[in-house]
Amino acid sequence: MGIKKYDKIIKITVPTPFPIGDVNTYLVKGDRLTLIDAGINTPEARAAFQLGVAEAGYKVSDIEQVILTHHHPDHIGLLDDFDVDIYGHSYCGNWISYNESFLNWRREFFIDLFRALGVPQEMIQLANNLDNTLKFGCEKSVLTGELKEGDELPALPGWHVLETPGHAQSHLVFYREKDGCLLAGDHVLKSVSSNPLLEPPSVRGAERSKPLLQYNNSLRKIMYMDIQQALTGHGNDIKSIHSLIERRFARQHDRAMFILSMLKEKPMTIFEVCTKLFPEIYIKETGLTLSETTGQFDYLLERGDIQVETIENGVIYYRG
Ligand SMILES: [Zn+2]
Repeated sequence: MGIKKYDKIIKITVPTPFPIGDVNTYLVKGDRLTLIDAGINTPEARAAFQLGVAEAGYKVSDIEQVILTHHHPDHIGLLDDFDVDIYGHSYCGNWISYNESFLNWRREFFIDLFRALGVPQEMIQLANNLDNTLKFGCEKSVLTGELKEGDELPALPGWHVLETPGHAQSHLVFYREKDGCLLAGDHVLKSVSSNPLLEPPSVRGAERSKPLLQYNNSLRKIMYMDIQQALTGHGNDIKSIHSLIERRFARQHDRAMFILSMLKEKPMTIFEVCTKLFPEIYIKETGLTLSETTGQFDYLLERGDIQVETIENGVIYYRG
């Protein structure tokens, strides 16, 4: 918690009840005082945010616009406190003011997906666990402007948008060329790897995305950029992002090879592998652990290392 100052940027850190710990928001002074990401909707985070803004020499009512790196609850939580323009990827719209029809569709998407992954019938209701974090987000905010690849950020001259889907379908990072500063959201974090999460497609009925493959492409996108400093959504700033990205790639590949060795022994479903990789937490953290496992399968399939062995009652078995 507390604040940290950079060139026209002030980092305000607030607590979350999530395993990831604190979340960072940033005030950027441009033609408008801009907030990058809006923390999480808890009384503790709200109090810490208000204190941070005051320490920075402002009032919350001085903030003139909010720009989102992505739509996850710990980055949109305090949005309902503002009556200003809100910018982000178009995918954010459904999440900052969701309705029952959207939530039902999301549940159905995950129930169908979980079946194909081999989640047993009696555990399919785990899909409902995915709603547990919604209360930490906001529910009646409106996206007033959509940001796309290459856009200059409104009222922040010199800052440009890069689309970096993977951790979230809505994920964007913002780059200031003059000093190589990257507002990185959760695209790369210093002390933990970002989870590429399974999420419903933006168009109902479309194929599911392959978040780990998207994520790796999005890492490659920033790999050779001149980034002097990355200010992230959680934890400390990153100075040497390129070597960190190399380590993330290597670790992910090693995990995939471990799964490949399991699938060479016998064909399995994604759920079976998930329970072996995460025996302690797969029930509580269903979304995270199934996302991680599915991502590795997508990676192995793309490389041609594994194949579909058989499909029984819609459940897919793979072999190495
Ligand atoms: Zn986050």
